[in-house]
Amino acid sequence: MDSDFSDLRSKALETLSKKGKVNVSQWGNDIKKLIEELSIHQIELEYQNEELERAQAEVQRKSDEYADLFDNAPVGHIILDKDQNIVNTNNTFAKLLLLLKEEIIGVPIQKFISPLFTDTYYHFFKLLQKGEIFAQVDLRMRSHRKSDIYVRIDATSHPQSHFYRLAIIDISIQKKLEDQLRKETEKAIKSETQFRQIVERSSDVFFYQDIVTRRIKYMSPTITSVLGYSQAECLQMSSSDQLSIMLPQYREFSFDLVNNLLESEVSGHDFISTEYEILTKDNTIKWIKASYSLIRNHNGEPDEIIGTLHDITPSKTYQKELIAAREKAEENDKLKSAFLANISHEIRTPLNAIIGFSDIMMNEFEEKNDSDNLSYITIVERNGHRLLELINDIICISKIESKQMAVSISEFDINELMRDSYDVFRLEAEERGLSLRFNNTPAETMINSDKDKVTSCIYNLIKNALKYTAKGYIEFNANVYDDILNFYVTDTGIGIPHEKQKQIFERFSQVNYTSSKDGVGLGLSIVMGLLQLLNGTIEVRSEVGKGSTFSFSIPLVNNN
Ligand code: ADP
Repeated sequence: MDSDFSDLRSKALETLSKKGKVNVSQWGNDIKKLIEELSIHQIELEYQNEELERAQAEVQRKSDEYADLFDNAPVGHIILDKDQNIVNTNNTFAKLLLLLKEEIIGVPIQKFISPLFTDTYYHFFKLLQKGEIFAQVDLRMRSHRKSDIYVRIDATSHPQSHFYRLAIIDISIQKKLEDQLRKETEKAIKSETQFRQIVERSSDVFFYQDIVTRRIKYMSPTITSVLGYSQAECLQMSSSDQLSIMLPQYREFSFDLVNNLLESEVSGHDFISTEYEILTKDNTIKWIKASYSLIRNHNGEPDEIIGTLHDITPSKTYQKELIAAREKAEENDKLKSAFLANISHEIRTPLNAIIGFSDIMMNEFEEKNDSDNLSYITIVERNGHRLLELINDIICISKIESKQMAVSISEFDINELMRDSYDVFRLEAEERGLSLRFNNTPAETMINSDKDKVTSCIYNLIKNALKYTAKGYIEFNANVYDDILNFYVTDTGIGIPHEKQKQIFERFSQVNYTSSKDGVGLGLSIVMGLLQLLNGTIEVRSEVGKGSTFSFSIPLVNNN
């Protein structure tokens, strides 16, 4: 603008000098020209003025824009003077502390620093004062309206101006996350340490390996006591090295491991376990029990196999010894039973002779009315019979136990067997003053089973009922229902205490206070053994002083 004025002035002066001496007669014209000149100049000035106003408005707009940008910048700003008083700030920072700018400007910054961070701030500002151009610090700020917030301050200092610019951002969330992360990491480290201690002290060997390459990524150090190879040697092993340790017959399992694991997951199992033999570093064979499960990555894809190995060689050896010992014991038992069966058979032959001749002698003494000798020979004959019964029982149980007892199925009438049983025991019952009952069913009921064994079971149970009943009655009967033969015998005898009702089926077992001089405790175990051979079952219901009911069921052989 000034330059335009001076241009005009110099232009006017130049014109005047060119004209030389001032001619008064020319004045009228010159004045006119001057007025014209001034008018143009006036218009020019007006234009220039307008231009000026426009430029000023532009400057104002720009300045407002910058002020707005400063005020609402995403970062809080503070300008400090050399005494650390806040000389300017923006809305962003004021909002951080829930204050108005007016409540901040003119206040020393220390007023907004949390007491715990006074020292931190002091050292930070010291750096700036010492001439550091940039400095950064994380600390907590607060106001009377806002509790502590974590902020990051980036400061720049201007050595000549003694002003400091501070840019402030809220990092509370970041700090919270960092804090959480730190805690989680500490927790993870702690649990990993605990886990490692458990793993490394456990007698089980833990490992995990890549699902594709089968490279071992971790193997607990206890592996050395199992395999002889060190932890480091195991980590070096390729998949084929690992396979070569397994005895060949178990390797197939390892090929299919991943598929097997996936399949077992589908059927709801977390792991699969197996047993195999391995060759240790010093060429000894050991039994291993191994369990495997899958570990999936964050996308849910199978990533690793995790597993445990346990040396079960001692228990396998023990198991083998146990099996061998059991087999030996069973063999011995069989031999003993076979021996008993044989020896009893041998005893039976002379015994039959004794009983036979006793019978003949009894008849002779009866004919001669020799009552003394008759009573002696009766004792011999009765005891001979008891001995024979006992020998027969021993032969029977020995044959059952040495598995020499064969099942022989034939067709017979069960009702006829009932009638025969009645006839066999009627006299003995009468002699003992007991009533023997059964529902005589004349109808023929043919069944297929082992007649001798069924008969033996029935006789043994009726015999017991007679033996253990002093007064009252004994009732028995059989029926066939749904291809099952059911038999029962009820007595009004002494009964069996509840707690003994299982035990009486064991060999030589007798209920103490009922122990009879007529038995050795073999009857019920013979019944049990015979029923087992016929796939039958037996039950007892009894009450002490009231009586007992023994019942058995045998599935019948269907010939159709
Ligand atoms: P035992 O030769 O002693 O009769 P058993 O094996 O036939 O041997 O029976 C075992 C025990 O069961 C008997 O000693 C007796 O105590 C008890 N017992 C068996 N049957 C009866 C019964 N009907 N009433 C009471 N007790 C019985």
